[in-house]
Amino acid sequence: MSHTQVRPWRHIERRRSRRIMVGSVPVGGGAPISVQTMTNTPTADVPATLAQIRAAAEAGADIVRVSTPDEESTAALRAIVRESPVPIVADIHFHYRRAIEAAEAGAACLRINPGNIGSAERVREVIRAARDHGCSIRIGVNAGSLERHLLERYGEPCPEAMVQSALDHIKLLEDNDFHEFKISVKASDVFLAAAAYQALAEATDAPLHLGITEAGGLMTGTVKSAIGLGSLLWAGIGDTIRVSLSADPVEEVRVGFEILKALGLRHRGVNIISCPSCARQGFDVIRTVEILEKRLAHVRTPLTLSIIGCVVNGPGEALMTDIGFTGGGAGHGMVYLAGRQSHRMDNDRMIDHIVELVEAKAAEIEAARAAARVAAEETPQAAE
Ligand code: SF4
Repeated sequence: MSHTQVRPWRHIERRRSRRIMVGSVPVGGGAPISVQTMTNTPTADVPATLAQIRAAAEAGADIVRVSTPDEESTAALRAIVRESPVPIVADIHFHYRRAIEAAEAGAACLRINPGNIGSAERVREVIRAARDHGCSIRIGVNAGSLERHLLERYGEPCPEAMVQSALDHIKLLEDNDFHEFKISVKASDVFLAAAAYQALAEATDAPLHLGITEAGGLMTGTVKSAIGLGSLLWAGIGDTIRVSLSADPVEEVRVGFEILKALGLRHRGVNIISCPSCARQGFDVIRTVEILEKRLAHVRTPLTLSIIGCVVNGPGEALMTDIGFTGGGAGHGMVYLAGRQSHRMDNDRMIDHIVELVEAKAAEIEAARAAARVAAEETPQAAE
C-alpha cells in the first residue's frame, strides 16, 4: 500500500501526457519527473564543461543542457556527449546549422524554437536531422522573446500569447510528422508562467518542461521556483523541471530535488526534518543540521532523519522517520530507530554516531533492493 493510499491528502494526480525520450531518460507518460540543469562554462572548453556536467549528475541531475551558440561549441559537443554520464540537450537559438550539427554530434534533445530558425525548408532540415539521429526537441517559448505578431495581437506577453506561440510551434513539428517533443512556456513572473502552463496543459498532451526563467539568485530564485513549479507540480502539471538560478548548477539540481521531495514526487538522499530550535534545545540544532547536511550529502538512498532540539516535538517527529535524535538530558539525547526509542547518546559524539547509523541504514536498504532485483530476475528462470 502506497503512502498516498494511507494518506490520501498527499496524493497528486499527475496530468496524463505522452512519453518521449531524452536519450535514455523517459519524459512524460508517468515517468519520474526528471531534474535538469544547464552548464555555464564555455561549451568549447570540454574538460570544464564535463566537470560541471559530472558535478550536476553527482548531485542528481537526470539531464544537462549546454549552449551551442557557434560551430566551436557543436564541434566540442561530440566529446561531451561521449563522456557525459547523463543525456545532453543542446540549446540553440536562430542558427539552424547549429541544430543540425548538434543532432549529428549526438545531442539527445535540441532546445529550439522552430519559428525562429527561418524558412519552412530549414525547419524541415532540422527535423530530418533530429529524426535521423534519434533526437527529441524541446519547444522553448519564453515570455521575453515572443514573436512580434503575437505581441501586436495580444498587446503584451500574456498566457494566451505564450500558449499561441507554443501551439504554432507544435504545428510546425506535427506538420512534419514529428511528435518527439516537449514544451516549455517560461516567464520570470510566477503568475504569468503558472497561468501559461495551466492553459498549455489543457491544450496538448505533450510532456511539459517546467521552469521559472531568470528567477534570481539562490534565495530569491529558490522561493520563486518553489512557488511557481511547486504549485504546478502540486496540480499534477509537469514532467521535467529546471530551476534557473544565478548560482552553481549543482544548486539548481539540489533545489529541484528539494521541491520534488517536498511534494513527495521524487525521493533521493536523506530528508532531514529538523526544528528551528529555541531556548529549550538540548544541543545546538542549527550547527548540527548544517554539519549533517554536508556529511550526508553523498547518500543517495532515500531515507528520513529527524533532528529535534527537545522532547516537545522530538518523539512525535521520530515516529515518522527512519532515524531520529531528540535532545533533552544533560549533555545527551535519545536516538530513535524506526520510530522507537533505542538508546541514549552523548551530544558531543552524536554527529559521528548519526552519520554511522544513516550510512548503515542506507547500505541495508541498498542490499535489500539488490536482493529483490536478483530475486525478480531469477523468478522467470525458476518458472521455466
Ligand atoms: S522542538 Fe523543542 S527545541 Fe525545537 S523548536 Fe520546538 S520546543 Fe524548541
